[in-house]
Amino acid sequence: MESHDGCVFCQIVAGKVPADIIYRLPSLVAFRDTNPQAPDHVLIVSTEHYDSLATCDDAVLLGDMLRAAHEVARKVHVDHGGYRVVVNTGKHGGQTVPHLHFHIMGGRRMQWPPG
Ligand code: 5GP
Ligand code: ZN
Repeated sequence: MESHDGCVFCQIVAGKVPADIIYRLPSLVAFRDTNPQAPDHVLIVSTEHYDSLATCDDAVLLGDMLRAAHEVARKVHVDHGGYRVVVNTGKHGGQTVPHLHFHIMGGRRMQWPPG
């Protein structure tokens, strides 16, 4: 498995940086965000490094990540109340960590439109 030097999400996947892991599959790892924007805020990251959604051509992986979103929601008990899935992509998308990840947020009512 290729790990990108200096990529914090690759380091979490490899167990070199600690994280509050919620769920894991061979293709992905889900853990709580250290700067939560909702009472429950979990990140689902791909095991393999892709810079973003824009450079990932693995449709099976992306399907796994979306299905894992609901599994994560179940595990943190926001599946009944509802939740939001966000994939910030690139500069205008507000992406700050250049490793493919989905945000799962719940535990409060989300606003629309987002900022
Ligand atoms: P982005 O801004 O790229 O969409 O999301 C990156 C997210 O990663 C942010 O919400 C940020 O709080 C979170 N994050 C950054 N570094 C770490 C870390 O070392 N551990 C965890 N658990 N989350 C992190
Ligand atoms: Zn990475």
